[in-house]
Amino acid sequence: MILLVDDTPENLISLKNVLEKHGFEVDTANSGEEALKKVLKNSYVLIILDVQMPEMDGFEVAEVISGYSKAKETAIIFLSAANTEFRFIAKGYSSGGLDYITKPVDINILLLKIKTFYRIYEQNRKLSEIQTALLEEIEFRKEAEQKKDEFISIASHELKTPLTSVKGYIQLLERGLNKGDIETVKSHLSKAQIQLEKLNGLIADLLDISKIESGKLKFNKQYFDFDQLLDGIIEVIHQSNPDFNIVKNGMVSAKIFGDEMRIEQVIVNFITNAIKYSPGTSQATMTVRLQNNELYLGVKDYGIGMQPDQVKRVFEKFYRVEETSHRFQGLGIGLYISSEIIKRHGGQINVQSVYGEGSEFYFTIPIEQLSAEV
Ligand code: ADP
Repeated sequence: MILLVDDTPENLISLKNVLEKHGFEVDTANSGEEALKKVLKNSYVLIILDVQMPEMDGFEVAEVISGYSKAKETAIIFLSAANTEFRFIAKGYSSGGLDYITKPVDINILLLKIKTFYRIYEQNRKLSEIQTALLEEIEFRKEAEQKKDEFISIASHELKTPLTSVKGYIQLLERGLNKGDIETVKSHLSKAQIQLEKLNGLIADLLDISKIESGKLKFNKQYFDFDQLLDGIIEVIHQSNPDFNIVKNGMVSAKIFGDEMRIEQVIVNFITNAIKYSPGTSQATMTVRLQNNELYLGVKDYGIGMQPDQVKRVFEKFYRVEETSHRFQGLGIGLYISSEIIKRHGGQINVQSVYGEGSEFYFTIPIEQLSAEV
C-alpha cells in the first residue's frame, strides 16, 4: 500500500485517483502528524511525501519515520513544487528519503519509480524471509549440537560407572584369590559379571542408535514360540531381581513371526524400566493376548508414572523426564530403539500412564505382518 501525504486535499485526491487507476492500493494523510500515526498502525511499501506542509514539513516527517523499525523497508519519495535546489534535494536523501520528485509530477515517471520501489520492497521481504529461515536453521543446529554434547557426557558417565565397578571387583578378586577365599571370589566374579552385562547392554544400545541413523538396523525374522520367549525373559529378570515379581497374564499359544532377539530387547526394556521407575514396589504385571488379528504385549508397573506432556515424548531419541533424570540412571535411548523395532514389525508402541500411580508400556503387532515374509 502507498501512503500519500499532502496538506492540499485536491493534490491528494487527484494523485490518489491516478494511482488507483493503475491498480495501486492508496491511503492518504493530510498532515505530517497524521502520516506518523498511520505509519505506526499500517505497513506501507512507499510513502509519497509533500515537502511543504505547515507544522511538520516532509523532511521532519521522513526523519521520524526513518527511526521506526516497523517502517525500515518503506521507501519515501519527496514531492516538492519549489525547492529544487541541490541542497534541498540532498536534505531529502539524508533524512531517510529514497527519491525526490518535483512538481508538476510527470505521472509516467512517478509510476515507473513506484513500480521499482514495489519490486525492491518485494525482494527485501523475500530476503528477510530467507534470513529468518536461515537463523532458525542455525538455531536448530546449535540445539542438535547441544543435545549431542549432553548425550556424550551422559553416555561417558553411564559407561564409566560399570567400568569402575568392574575394576573394583577385579582388585577385590585378586585379594580374595591371595587369601584363597573361594566363596568371596565367586561372589565378586558374579558381581563383575553383572556390571559387564550392563556395559555390554549400553554399548549395544549405542550401536543400535548408529545403525538406526544409517538405516542399517537389520532384522532376522523367523517363526518363534512367544510364550516360551516370555517365560525365558521372566526367569532371567528374576535371577537379577529376585525380590521383584512379574505376574504374567494370558498366553498366545502360537508361533509368532518376527525377530525374536529384537522383540526380546523391547520386552526386556519395558520390564527393566518398570523395575527402575517403580522404587519401593515389588511387582509388575505382564499382559499378553491375541485379539483382533493383533498380538498385544503390555508391562504395567505401579511406580512413579508420568505427566501427559512427558508421555507424549518418551519415545523420542535422548528424551528423559527431566525432573527424575538425576534419580535414575539412563541414556534415554531404550524406548526410541524399541519403537523403531516395533515399527519395523509393522506394529505400534504406546504407553498409558498416571502420574504417581504407574505406567503400562505396550506394543501391538498385526498378525498378518507377523506371518508375512519380509
Ligand atoms: P532410560 O530409562 O535409559 O532413560 P528409556 O528410553 O528407556 O531410557 O526411557 C526414556 C524415559 O522415559 C526415561 O528416562 C523415563 O523418564 C521415562 N520412563 C520410561 N519408562 C518408564 C516407566 N516405566 N515409568 C516412568 N517413566 C518411565
